Amino acid sequence: FASLYTPADKLNHKSLSAADLSYFESILPKSGIIQADLSSHNTDYIGIFKGESTLMLKPTNVEQVQAIIKYCKQERLPICPQGGNTGLVGGSVPVFDEIILNTSQMNNIFDFDENQGIVACQSGTILDALSNYAEERGFVVPLDLGAKGSCFIGGNISTNAGGNRFIRYKSLHETTIGLEVVTGNGDILNTMDYPSRKKAAIDFHHLFIGSEGTLGVITAAKIQLSPKPTSQNVAFLACNNFDDILKILGLARKFLGEILSAFEMMDKQSYNLVSAYIPRFKKPFEKSYGFYVLVETLGINQTHDKEKMEIFIENCMKMCALDGIVCRDLKQMLDLWNIRENCGPAAARAGYCFKFDISTPHALYYKTVEDVREIVGDDGITIGFGHIADCNLHINIAVPKEIAKNVGERVNNFLFEYLQKISGSVSAEHGIGLQKKDKLKYARTSEEIEIMRRIKKAYDPAGILNPYKVLTIK
Ligand code: FAD
Repeated sequence: FASLYTPADKLNHKSLSAADLSYFESILPKSGIIQADLSSHNTDYIGIFKGESTLMLKPTNVEQVQAIIKYCKQERLPICPQGGNTGLVGGSVPVFDEIILNTSQMNNIFDFDENQGIVACQSGTILDALSNYAEERGFVVPLDLGAKGSCFIGGNISTNAGGNRFIRYKSLHETTIGLEVVTGNGDILNTMDYPSRKKAAIDFHHLFIGSEGTLGVITAAKIQLSPKPTSQNVAFLACNNFDDILKILGLARKFLGEILSAFEMMDKQSYNLVSAYIPRFKKPFEKSYGFYVLVETLGINQTHDKEKMEIFIENCMKMCALDGIVCRDLKQMLDLWNIRENCGPAAARAGYCFKFDISTPHALYYKTVEDVREIVGDDGITIGFGHIADCNLHINIAVPKEIAKNVGERVNNFLFEYLQKISGSVSAEHGIGLQKKDKLKYARTSEEIEIMRRIKKAYDPAGILNPYKVLTIK
């Protein structure tokens, strides 16, 4: 990926000067201007994208963000918005010397409506902190993902993150009910205080959900929480054919209905890597199988929910499952979630790891893994797992570092055109960022991309926000 950009691709932005620093010193406290030790903020979570920024700004409020953006627009200084820097497509780190606008000092939870279950917070609030705040008040944040201890709600909204409980709580488009954003123009858009206003004409705030910091910087959000479930049940099932996973999904929808909260499939290659590389791995079954699925319910009546889970398991065992367990206690639940959550980390420990976050129609879901496995051959270990109910598929490939470039090129040359042919998507939930910028054309039509360009020009006419990500406007 290092070769995605060469110095010749650097856009005609201004470089940082002493006068610019003086301006930032006039609007931010000393603690908000960081020039030393920027290495971890210049490097993405996986360690493959590295920028060269020499300045990170940490504003504490919307007025400071507005002042920064207005100044940068006037001076043509590029900005890379950054949250928890857990993004997996290189969107959160600079490519060249963009100023990092880090939201970690904007972490106040400032409003809570107990009757409606609505919380308002600044965009730098860590997802886990927001979850704890909600749970103490009898609610849950409608989003749960492996990076929750580090990612920020603003980053989640900017990437339109999906996560484990998408099947239950749906997309952030549905649960983000208001946003405060500073656009690349320096305007403050606030849809938080008057939600009813959004009903008149165009509802702007959806444009910022999933726009990966290219149109504006999200400074605060209002989120619709869900009542905290008091009953949780987890089952783990095994089968040998992928078609049986789809049958189990059908049975889960039929027998678990509204309490179904997660349906996570993994193939035997994923499971085997977790068992080899993750020390806390606990074997759920004596025998080995071709496919495994973790099924979770969240509800408010343990007797009713447990009964539903038992009927579901009974039907699965009659129809297609070869083995199945329902958890007895919290520890066993954590052990089973540990298997699913460690598929990606196990692949990363097994070698140099390529991570593909894609979606495919259900009928071709596992064929896609098999076809990629054929391209990789014996050069690496190819695993497939994911939130299959939403057609999300994670293909991870662990290869020895010496041949990584070759394998990566082979898979890249194959996979994206393949996805276009089968009406899949080049990104399921991680976004486009830098990594998939040249792949957007395989998922969206040229007309759609042209409209995105016009929207980018309208919100960020100077092209200063994340100028090298998703779309570049020259
Ligand atoms: P960053 O990584 O800092 O930024 C991500 C993008 O958003 C960048 O383009 C950045 O410029 C932009 N951005 C950040 N903050 C703002 C803001 N305030 N305003 C405007 N733009 C902004 N994703 C899923 O969807 N589902 C998963 O299940 C999932 N699991 C993950 C598990 C792990 C272990 C890891 C490391 C990542 C996972 N992700 C998952 C990736 C996911 O995109 C991020 O974890 C998260 O949503 C990004 O939040 P962040 O605060 O770290 O944003």
